[in-house]
Amino acid sequence: MSPVPDLRPTRAEVDAGAIARNVARLAAAAGADVCAVVKADGYGHGAVTAARAALAGGATWLAVALVEEGANLRDAGIAAPVLLLSEPTVAAVPHLVGLDLTPTVYSAPFVAALDAAGRERGRPIAVHAMLDTGMARVGAPPADWPVLLDALAAAPGVVVEGVETHLARADEPSVPTTGLQLDRLVDGLGAVVARGLAPTLLHVANTAGTLAHADAVRAAGARLPGAAPLVRVGIGVYGLDPGGEVRAAEHGLEPALRIVSAVSFAKRIAAGTPVSYGHRWSAPADGWLATVPIGYADGVPRALGGRGDALVGGRRCPVAGTVTMDQLLLWCGDAEPTVGDEVVLLGAQGDERIGMEEWADAAGTITYEVATGLGPRLPRVAVAAEG
Ligand SMILES: *Cc1c(COP(=O)(O)O)cnc(C)c1O
Repeated sequence: MSPVPDLRPTRAEVDAGAIARNVARLAAAAGADVCAVVKADGYGHGAVTAARAALAGGATWLAVALVEEGANLRDAGIAAPVLLLSEPTVAAVPHLVGLDLTPTVYSAPFVAALDAAGRERGRPIAVHAMLDTGMARVGAPPADWPVLLDALAAAPGVVVEGVETHLARADEPSVPTTGLQLDRLVDGLGAVVARGLAPTLLHVANTAGTLAHADAVRAAGARLPGAAPLVRVGIGVYGLDPGGEVRAAEHGLEPALRIVSAVSFAKRIAAGTPVSYGHRWSAPADGWLATVPIGYADGVPRALGGRGDALVGGRRCPVAGTVTMDQLLLWCGDAEPTVGDEVVLLGAQGDERIGMEEWADAAGTITYEVATGLGPRLPRVAVAAEG
């Protein structure tokens, strides 16, 4: 418990209604149920807020990267099924079993540890078997898939509830990679059917796969009769672009996060006055400079200096000079700012809007990295759903 309330007028507002609506739109686009990915603190939005909002929007599953993240959801009283996206260490098995998390599996030692735990408790542990169809990160490569399936079929302590794979280039619909991955998936599903395994779930698509390849994913999934399709969507739940050629807004997804602060200090400076560390920027004319109490320690990319904007009074004001750890400066030109004026760093103010995609472009990265880079110091405030 912090000894003082949040005194700095800087916060990230998270719109739970937008998250819920995005989940419903993704489910409609997929023609499938939604597993909402809330790893990395809900892509920086707050994992518990995001999880509750996603469930309210109709998600039937949640997914996390770490057992620790699953424990955080359970601590908050969330009872929905939670998928672990990769295998943790074998030492984590008793914890994930105790928390009733559903593990993704692909390695023999991990399956053996789960089998032992399931036999010990007298009830098999539901697992999702992951085939690596081309991501080459985790999952059993096609050559090892039959061996994994044989091990699972022979393990009374586990039951194969789901089968999954992960797409590497779904955000680039013009390359053939996704089609090749789906071909390998279809081969892998044949091996599942041949062993008489009867998983009830199949999940393949991330956000880009859901928005750009829904038909192909559905067609491949039909090769596992009896398995309902699920999509593992993260970035789209938060209304952000998955990058590449896929645009969230074109699919009706809404950004759920706004970053708001207020002018903390204002002054008039003369043309040519150099500003901030390194004096990398100088005033182009006589005019007004506003100080805003947010910096790169909160997750504002340092690269916005001289490249990005923030909104004051519904107008874009360029970020003047180097973004510092705790503060940044805005060039307001002739418009005199007043201490306390609202500053919108991300999101809408009046008719103007700044998207996280702008920050990502300025920083030469992707929305995922910007969102998960928002600092723990930035208070996340859940706001009432609009509309
Ligand atoms: C993070 C992750 C997702 C979600 O991807 P988005 O592009 O954010 O939709 C889905 N599946 C796996 C295995 C992941 O690691």
